[in-house]
Amino acid sequence: MSQLVLVAGDVIFREGDPGTCAYMVEFGEVEISTDGGTRLLSKLGPGDLFGEVAILDGGVRTATAVATGDTLLTTVAGEDLANRLANSDPVVVHLMKTVIRRQIRQSRGDVDTGLSASLTDRALLELRREREIREALERREFEAFFQPIVGLEDRVLRGYEALVRWRRSDGTLVSPADFLPVAERNNRIREIDLQILHQACRAAVDCLRRSPRAAASDLFVTVNFAPLHFRDHAIVDELQRALTATGLPARRLKVELTETALLESSDATISVINGIRALGVRVCLDDFGTGYSSLGYLHRFPIDTLKIDRSFVLAMMNGERGRKLLVAVLDMARALGFDTVVEGIEDEPVAVVLAKMGCALGQGYLFGRPMERSRMLASHRS
Ligand code: C2E
Ligand code: CA
Ligand code: CA
Ligand code: CA
Repeated sequence: MSQLVLVAGDVIFREGDPGTCAYMVEFGEVEISTDGGTRLLSKLGPGDLFGEVAILDGGVRTATAVATGDTLLTTVAGEDLANRLANSDPVVVHLMKTVIRRQIRQSRGDVDTGLSASLTDRALLELRREREIREALERREFEAFFQPIVGLEDRVLRGYEALVRWRRSDGTLVSPADFLPVAERNNRIREIDLQILHQACRAAVDCLRRSPRAAASDLFVTVNFAPLHFRDHAIVDELQRALTATGLPARRLKVELTETALLESSDATISVINGIRALGVRVCLDDFGTGYSSLGYLHRFPIDTLKIDRSFVLAMMNGERGRKLLVAVLDMARALGFDTVVEGIEDEPVAVVLAKMGCALGQGYLFGRPMERSRMLASHRS
């Protein structure tokens, strides 16, 4: 997405032009007209989107758009929209096209449909977020934070999970819940995950250089990979590239995937996971127990570690049944040869009980919150 600065009278597109992108008005005013400019359809202001129909249908512009004063536009490239549409539910795509066509007819005064304002508002918000994410990627504003993973018995540090934060130019930190869903929908997640991967490998190497103790241990770093990476074998080359560029030994890197990535359980997914393991990088199943996996089908996937979700910890604290459930999960995981990490440990008594149950590793606020790279490195000063 890029921005376009216009003055009064500038033509954005003419009726009959091929439609290659849509626009959002950031500032100023745009007039949409037909019939050679004689029939005014609408005046658009900040927050309005236009020019999207031609790119949805791959057709030509059915109207002319002209700026009436100093105007700032954000362009939305057609291929990006096409990309998003290709990844969307066909029903949603149909609905979207219908809504947009109806909106057009309405703006021409053909029919009155009561189009939900909140629907368009949400769409515009999403487009703005997308542009911000793209800019943030260019400015390298995504930053890896590191949360310790410790041995539950001896409380010794075993590794770190890298967790993305968006450090905006005004210094505020945005947590992943506020931008990952958008980034996943428009595929930007790939670049985010790769930037975090490189940062995580580099930080781990720095940590090993700084601390002989860390170097002598099996210290590892884990990164989160969105489900869509597991459909594309190119991610294996990206991992190799990150290891080569940073010099991190493969055995010190783990990749976390969620059950969603396994849902399709296609041969392609298995081949990507095998490719990752062939590099010597280990694979963890994250958020275990929140999705659809059963230990029964897990053996089909070449996975090393199960990360047991915090909800199991909460269930355990809730009573005897929850405790038994966790014991059963840990026992089965062990029987199937998985390493286990329990996430979201906040209290000492919970850590003690989990250690007794035989869970080897733990992660949670009790042992440390995600911290920025400099703080993580400082904790390794020898
Ligand atoms: P996750 O992978 O399950 O990460 C664990 C989340 O639990 C983190 O939230 C972490 O800060 C939080 N947490 C850790 N200890 C505790 C605790 O004791 N109590 C509680 N209540 N929470 C705890 P965060 O950092 O906000 O990340 C949220 C999710 O965003 C992650 O869940 C992961 O699914 C996703 N994510 C984070 N970084 C990345 C990334 O670089 N790439 C991708 N694709 N996803 C990421
Ligand atoms: Ca994770
Ligand atoms: Ca998790
Ligand atoms: Ca989680």
